[in-house]
Amino acid sequence: MEKITKRKPIKLKTNNSQEKDNEVEDKPISKLFMIAKFCVSLPLNLVSVSFPVIFICGLHFSCMSKNACTFLKMPQFPEFSKFFSWKSVGYVTGWFTFQAILSMLPIGKLVAGPRLDDQKKLHYRLNGLSSLIFTMAIFVYTTYFRKIPENYYKDNYISFITGSFIYILLISLVVLVHSRYTGSTKYGNSSGRLIEDFIYGCTVNARLFDGILDLKVFAFKAGFISWAVINIGYLLEAVETSGLMGTLDKNPSLLILVVLQLWYVLDAMIFEEALLYTASLSSEKIGYMFYYSVLCFFPFFCSLQAKYLFLFPRSLSWQYYIVAVFLYVIGYCIYRTSVQQKFNFRKDPHQAKVSGVKFILTANQKDILVDGWWSVVRHPNYLGDWMMCCSWGILCGFTHGIPWLWPVSLLGMLIGMAIRDDAKCKQKYGSSWEEYRKLVKHKMLPYIF
Ligand code: NDP
Repeated sequence: MEKITKRKPIKLKTNNSQEKDNEVEDKPISKLFMIAKFCVSLPLNLVSVSFPVIFICGLHFSCMSKNACTFLKMPQFPEFSKFFSWKSVGYVTGWFTFQAILSMLPIGKLVAGPRLDDQKKLHYRLNGLSSLIFTMAIFVYTTYFRKIPENYYKDNYISFITGSFIYILLISLVVLVHSRYTGSTKYGNSSGRLIEDFIYGCTVNARLFDGILDLKVFAFKAGFISWAVINIGYLLEAVETSGLMGTLDKNPSLLILVVLQLWYVLDAMIFEEALLYTASLSSEKIGYMFYYSVLCFFPFFCSLQAKYLFLFPRSLSWQYYIVAVFLYVIGYCIYRTSVQQKFNFRKDPHQAKVSGVKFILTANQKDILVDGWWSVVRHPNYLGDWMMCCSWGILCGFTHGIPWLWPVSLLGMLIGMAIRDDAKCKQKYGSSWEEYRKLVKHKMLPYIF
């Protein structure tokens, strides 16, 4: 299985596109062409920036009241003041700033992360779990003891989404300016086009205050924590209305869903170090799309299932719960063990290899794991993740499309990610990846895909 190949240093990509753009700019005729191209692409870019947020708001309109959580009826549109308020922008900004401060506190272990393109390793403070516990305690205290007016979150929900949109625009701008100013675009990550760099990012990491605030990792944790907080908010309100026993009796689905999703978030915070080794955190660029996915999609899209169950209490027959919990537990075991296997292999490859882990030697700095779940499918973590997401859909029943939007879209997303990652690894590891593909034939679903 092992192939002895001499290691070669990674060849850093040069910013060819920027060089080409500079060449083009010298020609006067091309300037007109560039302006025309900019005018055409501007509305398209505006649409791609605003559409995801409009989509999330639209889903919440479709799920505003007990009579309207369906795709089949036109949603009731609230008055303009519900869309936007400066107060909500202030709250959202304050909330994310609070999360940023928590992520900077010198609580928790300081660890070295994965090796970056420039061969350096950044250090990270593992304080996600303490941030989650502290935030939860404050949230439960302020909600339970009515420090915040009743129904405040519910009444201002849509303006929180638009508030987070504004925050995302601002933080993406900060990252863009910071990465250009500090020159962290030099590892071939910049497209050379400003708007594209803003939307898709032009750097993999951005840090402020002498490296204490990591603008990528903080947002990742803040998104997870916000989702958990929103879910707990729905559960607290249900318990307040019907009591704990009443919720257990009339809406056990909500209780189980919130517990399972809370465990998912808790797990991410407990195994925070392994998160640093995922492609999302170690090699993907940070721009508007990244911030949208972690600061808008996580909190406001992932909490839709809890909102749905809050509005439509569900008490399904026990077989549903057995199937859902079973699927979740199996999915969780696949997800956690596979993530941990890859993390151990990447963090300390020497130790993993001497302990007998099977791998393919590559010409790159890193080798390919062909052991455990990684010998069953090429993306076992995606499979586990999707199984957990389906279990949450089952808890909501099969009478509405909204709670199933996430499992369906996640499947599409993961298939796309698996195809892209395969192409990326093929480029990175060449014939060794081909060998891996021959040994492990399927990407995500054994015998299917
Ligand atoms: P992954 O952890 O899947 O990272 C992919 C990278 O892992 C590859 O680029 C490669 O990078 C390395 N790798 C792949 N195969 C092997 C192997 N056999 N041996 C060693 N290294 C390997 O990261 P992603 O960011 O793609 O996904 C992270 C998690 O986020 C997933 O679990 C996914 O399910 C989840 N996710 C969840 C969503 C949700 O809504 N719940 C949405 C999107 C993602 P390298 O070689 O450079 O180490």
